[in-house]
Amino acid sequence: MIEIENMIDERQQKLRQIADHYQEKQLWKLAEECGELVQALSKYTLTGDKRPVIEEIADVKNVAPQVEYLLGIEDDVEPMMEYKLDRTIKEVEEQQKKMDYRERMMRTFLGGNCDRQRSNRKL
Ligand SMILES: [Mg+2]
Repeated sequence: MIEIENMIDERQQKLRQIADHYQEKQLWKLAEECGELVQALSKYTLTGDKRPVIEEIADVKNVAPQVEYLLGIEDDVEPMMEYKLDRTIKEVEEQQKKMDYRERMMRTFLGGNCDRQRSNRKL
């Protein structure tokens, strides 16, 4: 556990050192990395190549905390993440309830098996 905490501290020190050096340039760097992630995801859908996605997610995850640090919003992001996760979970559960209801109705009135439709459904 202490090793993990040391790794986190070491990473945070590196991120802060970079952020302190580049300052506001890191805001544009984050925008750039987000753009590269969009491109990597697009490429993945065409080629199935995950490597660029891995690289660009790593870039975004390295630069985003730098921007949080530079803007002094580090303590604000975590609660916002929790809020948004909870909000999305509620949406997912609502959609699942609707889907379950629809499948029950299909089975009741059509006597059909909806498993095929479910497996074909895009996520
Ligand atoms: Mg990149």
